[in-house]
Amino acid sequence: MARYTGPVCRLCRRERTKLYLKGERCFSLKCPVSENSDRQARAYPPGMHGRDRQRQGSEYLTQLREKQKARRTYGLLEKQFRNLYEEANRRPGITGTNLLQFLEMRLDNVAYRAGWGASRAQARQFVRHGHVHVNGKRVTIPSYRVRPGETVTLKEPTRANFNVVRNRDVLDRSVPGWLETAENGFAVTVRVAPAREQIDEAIREQLIVELYSK
Ligand code: SF4
Repeated sequence: MARYTGPVCRLCRRERTKLYLKGERCFSLKCPVSENSDRQARAYPPGMHGRDRQRQGSEYLTQLREKQKARRTYGLLEKQFRNLYEEANRRPGITGTNLLQFLEMRLDNVAYRAGWGASRAQARQFVRHGHVHVNGKRVTIPSYRVRPGETVTLKEPTRANFNVVRNRDVLDRSVPGWLETAENGFAVTVRVAPAREQIDEAIREQLIVELYSK
């Protein structure tokens, strides 16, 4: 499946918020969206007229930006995201919560939440390159939906990879409660689908539902 390969900081600048797409850099003063950034001069939307652009107050725009924020946070293209929404809508329960659960339970996101990748993009690369196993079998599909009870592990030799060691030491992210860790943090089992309050993304999913329901 295709993915966005362009510059990513401009996506955060467009949404005027941190989407944490670059790992360690996102926590440094180099982040152009950071409040204390040494690049504060670029904390405006990208593009030739980004600096002059006034934010419009329309309802549609608010919904669109929220959808783009969610889509970009998880690194999906529009069609994938829309399909996921359609599936969430068909399932019983709250559509917005279903959508976020589907996003969280993607294999690349689980590898990210386990702290192996500095960003979802890096975790996705680990998956694509065959470093991640599900229930002992290699799975190279980032969109694979991990089910409750399944165990995701990082391949033995990769555990000593410089990037993995550094990510675990420097970023020091805590693993969410819906994941159970084992093997010194290199194996995680999905206990249950995450509840909304366990998903710490500032996404107003109701606006996405409203946008797609038009
Ligand atoms: Fe976004 Fe990270 Fe770039 Fe900051 S450094 S703008 S959070 S991708």
